[in-house]
Amino acid sequence: MSQAPVPNVYDAEPIPEAARAEIDRLMQSGDLFRYTAPEDAPVTLLEREFAAMMGSRYALAVSSCSAALFLSLKALGLPRGAKVLIPAFTFAAVPSAVVHADCQPVLVEVGSNYRVDMADFEARLTDDIGAVLISHMRGHTSDMDAIMALAEARGVPVIEDAAHSLGTLWNGKKIGTIGRVGCFSFQSYKLVNAGEGGIMVSDDADLIAQAIIMSGAYEHNWKKHDILAKAVERWQNALPLYNLRMQNLSAAVIRPQLAEVPRRVADGRRNHDYVAAQLNVSPWLDVPQPLAPELRAPDSIQFNLIGMSDDQVTAFAETAQAGGIKVQVFGMSTDNARAFWNWRFIEGGVPELPKTRDMLMRACDVRLPARLTLSDLDFVSSVLVGAADQVMAETRAYGT
Ligand SMILES: *Cc1c(COP(=O)(O)O)cnc(C)c1O
Repeated sequence: MSQAPVPNVYDAEPIPEAARAEIDRLMQSGDLFRYTAPEDAPVTLLEREFAAMMGSRYALAVSSCSAALFLSLKALGLPRGAKVLIPAFTFAAVPSAVVHADCQPVLVEVGSNYRVDMADFEARLTDDIGAVLISHMRGHTSDMDAIMALAEARGVPVIEDAAHSLGTLWNGKKIGTIGRVGCFSFQSYKLVNAGEGGIMVSDDADLIAQAIIMSGAYEHNWKKHDILAKAVERWQNALPLYNLRMQNLSAAVIRPQLAEVPRRVADGRRNHDYVAAQLNVSPWLDVPQPLAPELRAPDSIQFNLIGMSDDQVTAFAETAQAGGIKVQVFGMSTDNARAFWNWRFIEGGVPELPKTRDMLMRACDVRLPARLTLSDLDFVSSVLVGAADQVMAETRAYGT
């Protein structure tokens, strides 16, 4: 098995051929700005199609998921300095969006299963919390029923950071459509790849109306959106224009990929579950179970190292890398953007969060893009299981 070629887990899938004609047309006409055409610009069509796909009333395409999170916070009208509850296991862009919106991130503990610790969430959801921003990190879905019930009881709006969760279901409902607003990324490592880009979905006309204007629909460009005039007119000239628009070329790259989403989700789930079953046989590796209502759409796998010292964790990662599979242990790699203690830009510093820290020191991340074959997956599993066996067998031989 180790004779098989090392699978490349980094390359993206080709962009569907159907994008080519539309990109050529845009190159010929030079019509790259979303508001030049009188109607039906590629960005507008993307918004219409994405909203329909998600079953949401409105969608607004923007320059990144970070921009969508920023605009969501701004459109909630939170006062300067408002506290926003976020999971302590997320990408640095998330607390950054909170800071960008002049708000203050409050970190919540995340357990060894990569999900929000609900006791800590409840304890930190105090009267001074202005909004909750839930990152479904790597698609792992926290208990959204409990989160929504607690937030709604206090009248606190919930933003979903579904950047990396397109296609995930919770009780049959699409992730990103449970909270007041859901934000997705089209950055290259996500399920739909435009290099960069983001989109937000909501049923709240007033929220989307404000986000449309702030995204840069200056003068009367908001009339080119699928939204009722009366929802937007009251915000005319009343909000800053942050200019976070998407351009037509990005939409042309994204639109034909929407049809690929069901296949990528099905293949990603097959790949994940196939590798998870093999890793879980090892006494040193554990892939946490999802919560019962979650149906995953993974394009990577996370697992915890069991019973290993820091040195053994390092030896495991080195052995796997020598075998051709790069493992990122979130908390053990220098300057990792997903380790909360590295978010030194947060004013007042970050609290100590022992549960999240313990998880990050043992949680491994391996990419498993949908296009991998079963023999690629066997290769990945055998390198990981073999590396753990080797490291732990050496330890036993030396009797530490
Ligand atoms: C990628 C990612 C982001 C940021 O998305 P951008 O489009 O690059 O701004 C935010 N949150 C999570 C969970 C992500 O995976």
